[in-house]
Amino acid sequence: MAKAIAIANQKGGVGKTTTAVNLAACIASFEKKVLLIDIDPQGNATSGLGLDKYKTENSIYKVLVDEESIKKNIEKTRYENLFILPSNIQLAGAEIELVMMISREYRLKNAIKEIKDEFDYIFIDCPPSLGLLTLNALTAADTVLVPIQCEYYALEGLGQLMNTISLVKKHLNKNLEVEGVLLTMFDPRTNLSIQVVEEVKKYFKDKVYRTIIPRNVRLSEAPSHGKPIIIYDSKSKGAEVYMELAKEVLGIE
Ligand code: ADP
Ligand code: MG
Repeated sequence: MAKAIAIANQKGGVGKTTTAVNLAACIASFEKKVLLIDIDPQGNATSGLGLDKYKTENSIYKVLVDEESIKKNIEKTRYENLFILPSNIQLAGAEIELVMMISREYRLKNAIKEIKDEFDYIFIDCPPSLGLLTLNALTAADTVLVPIQCEYYALEGLGQLMNTISLVKKHLNKNLEVEGVLLTMFDPRTNLSIQVVEEVKKYFKDKVYRTIIPRNVRLSEAPSHGKPIIIYDSKSKGAEVYMELAKEVLGIE
């Protein structure tokens, strides 16, 4: 039975997609069968794994809105053990279309029931909002992983996110837990980065991953090649830290 992990933070540009793509790829490299669900209309996880988000026939939109079978819409990637349920721009309309639909918050949860036995891990890359797409992800997930960028205002908006998580727990998914909090784009040369780490640790305590993701140019280049970092540059610092994070998530020392 797969563990489903939503990667969420309503702020844009904090490292959700980078984490979703690279953590999924690293965990797949440990011979786990992994599905990445791209539920962001921007489709960056889709293109980050080398699929053309403008051409793909299959999509999460068809699953959520048209109620097509999820199995039919899952695609193989070029990478072993790694599968994707792609997003495309149509999904931008889904946020509105879903409002009128029956069991609008449960559509992803109901869809993944069909495939939960087939995977070890399912990662869900959320859009930068707390709308119905993110609610579908949080309702379908067992846990939520929250990336936080080491920058000014890092903690701003996190109250709102935690509040949404507790509302989801109360009304939609009582078993939802916080998987972990991930510090991203750390710059060891700045006091600010160091302060943010301290503050986040004070607030989230042992929920914060030991692994901290530094700024790394190779990580920002990899998506334009449609490759996860362990394929694009396996010797880079970025590859090293996402492998470390994968071990932490898998509970391997
Ligand atoms: P989100 O999905 O939260 O909007 P992304 O993962 O797309 O955030 O990251 C935002 C931008 O920052 C992207 O251009 C990405 O390539 C870049 N980026 C993410 N993490 C790092 C990192 N550790 N080092 C350097 N650039 C990064
Ligand atoms: Mg993203």
